[in-house]
Amino acid sequence: MLEHDVIIVGGGLAGCRAAVEMARIDPNLDVAVVAKTHPIRSHSVAAQGGIAATLKNVDSTDTWEAHAFDTVKGSDYLADQDAVEILAREAPDVVIDLEHMGVLFSRLSDGRIAQRAFGGHSHNRTCYAADKTGHAILHELVNNLRRYGIRIYEEWYVMRLILSDGQAKGIVMYHILDGQIEVVRAKAVMFATGGYGRVYNTTSNDYASTGDGLAMAAIAGVPLEDMEFVQFHPTGLYPVGVLISEAVRGEGAYLVNSEGERFMAHYAPSRMELAPRDITSRAIAREIQGDRGIYPNGHPGGPFVHLDLRHMGQEKIMSRIPFCWEEAHRLVGIDAVHQPIPVRPTVHYSMGGIPVNTDGQVRSGPDRLIEGFFAAGESACVSVHGANRLGSNSLLECVVYGRRTGAAIAQFVQNRKLPTVDEEWHIREAQLQVQMLLQQSGQRRIAQVRQAFQDSMTKHCGVFRTDESMRQGLQELQQLQQQYAEIYLDDKGSCWNTELVEALELQSLMVVGQIILTSACNRLESRGAHYREDYPQRDDGNFLKHTMAYYSLAGLDIQYRPVTLTMFEPQERKY
Ligand SMILES: Cc1cc2nc3c(=O)[nH]c(=O)nc-3n(C[C@H](O)[C@H](O)[C@H](O)COP(=O)(O)OP(=O)(O)OC[C@H]3O[C@@H](n4cnc5c(N)ncnc54)[C@H](O)[C@@H]3O)c2cc1C
Repeated sequence: MLEHDVIIVGGGLAGCRAAVEMARIDPNLDVAVVAKTHPIRSHSVAAQGGIAATLKNVDSTDTWEAHAFDTVKGSDYLADQDAVEILAREAPDVVIDLEHMGVLFSRLSDGRIAQRAFGGHSHNRTCYAADKTGHAILHELVNNLRRYGIRIYEEWYVMRLILSDGQAKGIVMYHILDGQIEVVRAKAVMFATGGYGRVYNTTSNDYASTGDGLAMAAIAGVPLEDMEFVQFHPTGLYPVGVLISEAVRGEGAYLVNSEGERFMAHYAPSRMELAPRDITSRAIAREIQGDRGIYPNGHPGGPFVHLDLRHMGQEKIMSRIPFCWEEAHRLVGIDAVHQPIPVRPTVHYSMGGIPVNTDGQVRSGPDRLIEGFFAAGESACVSVHGANRLGSNSLLECVVYGRRTGAAIAQFVQNRKLPTVDEEWHIREAQLQVQMLLQQSGQRRIAQVRQAFQDSMTKHCGVFRTDESMRQGLQELQQLQQQYAEIYLDDKGSCWNTELVEALELQSLMVVGQIILTSACNRLESRGAHYREDYPQRDDGNFLKHTMAYYSLAGLDIQYRPVTLTMFEPQERKY
């Protein structure tokens, strides 16, 4: 059996930042990071627009309180305000620390870190490295992992969380290279497994964003918090769904309908294109529903609107957002200097996740914690984003809470013994699961079942929701879960069996989908990204609370947890 003081699942920004912190605090700690991809291929690498912090380099009137207020208002007042305060207060420090590690931020002419406007932020506070910010940060963090001698298990798929007697004791993992299964026991386990965009048929997320960490935690009995809040990014490139960063609007691009009108004037007159994402996504969806979308031949009534950069000029486009220009050019043949880009909302981010306190320790209920289990980043819900995240606050969350969680774990493992784990039993169980999948004799293909599932989730739990449609979605999901048992795998081998990995991922997607649908069905109001046509108003009297969904094979149990309000009283949210 493999043993480490700490095992971190996930090599993105959150996992890497936590590992670096542990190594800084106690160089003698034995810390390992596992990832099913190479760490540098974690979705964090794709982050474009930037990371928010009140450095005041561009706008000297900015304050951490203003950042906190924008975040809480953006969250539709569901964020826990103690967690938001930490996020906004610690932001300048973590960004400067990244710079000292060597991250190549874009600069002002006087050499200080440049900052741009972003949706929902009242000041220019988003620091960036052109439109490749995640790339710049993740490369530097992974370099640091190597520098500190942290063990990296790359391309190992983690199948299970070992959790018993209220304590996390380790993980079971499968080596994609050769099919070997190993148990790792550890004094502390941390999940930083990212989001689940692949639950939907159109997403900006990478192929690995399948919500495995969420599903493993749920199956082990950990509740998942606020899973009904799925962020749709307004500007997914049509038809592929790949992200066109909000930085493009931050730098001045317009959203235009088939009538050539900047329609955001009807939805958020004071912020226009820089309204928060939930509002902008709904506005685009309404324009498309109202036949003011555009077809590829330019006719009205089509499936997308235009993102128009032409007035910005070639020099600005190529220096500030070169990657977005390149994406539109490479993927749909549009030269954004001369032509508008076709866009529509695309699934982008998970506001909910594994519930944690502000030290990253996982909650098993409103007032209880799980010993030895920690989480941070997109897979966690410390609830700084509430019902809707502001752009450039997620990289920030990964770094602030990655660092805090790393520090808390370094403290937690001092003078602790390794837990006892029945290695043989866990290996046998995992082998059985793999064998059953390889031996199934049905007729169905993974891609077929997955596509049907993704289409169903997109149809029944998208930008607009109703009780009737979500119940239909739950019924369809039941049928699809039965079809899962009829999947046939062509590849029976143990060497690089990506088909098997996809089958395991499909199980994660379905568990996560069921939790999203059930949590959404039970929230009888509209708040942030969760918009119900049958309950169009926010209802603070009944629903100013966090959903806690407990998964079991028998079904889901939905409970709630109060929201922490410390600084700002809920108000009507207008832009
Ligand atoms: C296209 C795009 C652009 C974005 N731009 C911005 C931006 O400009 N600013 C901003 O603030 N946010 C942005 N975001 C959001 C932000 O990038 C992410 O929320 C954040 O990077 C998530 O980091 P993470 O460390 O939590 O997870 P990730 O970076 O997603 O990493 C997850 C890790 O977990 C591993 N993993 C998952 N499951 C398993 C398993 N079963 N076994 C082993 N390993 C596993 C993966 O291999 C990976 O290493 C963007 C997101 C996208 C998709």
